[in-house]
Amino acid sequence: MLSTGLVWDERLMWHNPVGAGPLRAGGWVQPGQHAESAEGKRRIKNLLDASGLTSQLTQVHAREATRDELLRIHDAAYLDRLERESAAGGGDAGDGHSPFGPGGFMLAALAVGGGLAAVDAVLDGAVNNAYVLVRPPGHHALADRGMGFCLLANAALAAAHARARGIERVAIVDWDAHHGNGTQAAFARDPSVLTISLHQDSVFPPGSGGVGENTGDTINIPLPPGSGAGAYAHAFSEVVLPALRRFAPGLVVIACGFDSAGMDPHARLMLHSDAYRALTTELMAFAQGKVVAIHEGGYHEASVPFLALAVIETLAGVRTGVEDPFLPNMAGPAGQELQPHQAAAIAQAR
Ligand code: ZN
Repeated sequence: MLSTGLVWDERLMWHNPVGAGPLRAGGWVQPGQHAESAEGKRRIKNLLDASGLTSQLTQVHAREATRDELLRIHDAAYLDRLERESAAGGGDAGDGHSPFGPGGFMLAALAVGGGLAAVDAVLDGAVNNAYVLVRPPGHHALADRGMGFCLLANAALAAAHARARGIERVAIVDWDAHHGNGTQAAFARDPSVLTISLHQDSVFPPGSGGVGENTGDTINIPLPPGSGAGAYAHAFSEVVLPALRRFAPGLVVIACGFDSAGMDPHARLMLHSDAYRALTTELMAFAQGKVVAIHEGGYHEASVPFLALAVIETLAGVRTGVEDPFLPNMAGPAGQELQPHQAAAIAQAR
């Protein structure tokens, strides 16, 4: 019997440049799939196709945003760095949670351009409204760096594009579970763009998005964990809708994250498909229905297609007949109705 050696080190199996959930892999964090993966978005597109809804929509083609368009929000030096690292095989946009691979800059610019093309289609009257199903997301990206999986500021750049096309006032309503800090920063000193972010209180970025940052045209509504359809309906009726009535936007951009839903692993909020339908309907009452919804977060891959279908069905005024099989599990748990501590938090944002 021969004696046979074996060399084995588990850590060698962890060599992987991709990531692990929301973090960069390394140290004691075993690599796996990065949270911001293609799977959830592909499943949305597949459900749109399988339900027959795609054939009832008008295809709007994404184009790469130009450098001048990106410079409306981002610094030249940051764009140069992204372009250089992208050409050299990849890098990270800024915080270690926002990796990109070869050609990542071009892909991010294409995601931005999807939003710009949608704004053009709506403003040209080719469509009434639009859903922009792109990745990487954008609402955390700052002028000089990316963060939170975001490279370029998709929603902010869409709003800036509408402004450049002569729309006097643009409102951005961000219902992603996390604070739209990049969007807020882009327009902090620009009263022509109203930014409203509803998010779980101080999840990401940590400490960001409190009511202390609120001004007339920057509105944060930090919600306690566990907030559901009742809390969002109350926040809309008490804060969001009155602000939109006062502001009278010519275009509404939705930073449409689905990580505010009940089964998402990255936050502790409780929205469900019927709640997203209701919120979408409320926003369609403004700007003559000119609404551009731009996809942001949403990480529960099995259920997120039904949430996006609900929003897109609502935008299109169509019911496909697909019932959300997750709705009983997401709408059923106790606590969906407004709770007193949630009302108190919302009152702070007024
Ligand atoms: Zn998010």
